[in-house]
Amino acid sequence: MMNVTGKAYMSFQQRDWGSLWAIRSPPKAKHLLWRIAKGCLPTRMRLQEKRVSCPLLCPLCNQHNEDDWHVLFGCATSSQARQSACLEQVILPRLQRFSSATDVIFDICSNESQETAGSFAMLVWVLWNNRNNCVWNDMNESGSCLGIKARHLWAE
Ligand SMILES: [Zn+2]
Repeated sequence: MMNVTGKAYMSFQQRDWGSLWAIRSPPKAKHLLWRIAKGCLPTRMRLQEKRVSCPLLCPLCNQHNEDDWHVLFGCATSSQARQSACLEQVILPRLQRFSSATDVIFDICSNESQETAGSFAMLVWVLWNNRNNCVWNDMNESGSCLGIKARHLWAE
């Protein structure tokens, strides 16, 4: 199916929830992917929708509002991280095809190998962990370090 922007989107029935649990990744990374797919990631945009008063800008770049798409794919840190995690080929074509982070996640989990989808989940976990470290501990790693970290964590 296509939406007004000409991008593909998945209906609820097309979303294969089983594929999310079948990937090869530590449980904490699977859980995070599941929370994102459910629309429960507490980004600043989502908190604001729930009338929590907080800044809207991404704490990493301070340039764009923080929503799921920005945290996972849009931020410069995320883009550097997927390159150093060797996942650019997996992620980039899907950013052109889909318009929601959830659809990108389901498409990767249902069509890539369980290993590739697993290392993608690890990358997502590392990105969100870094974002939280930045907000709560004022610590922040470069995108290329994060990508390498994701590869190491996944291989362990
Ligand atoms: Zn950002």
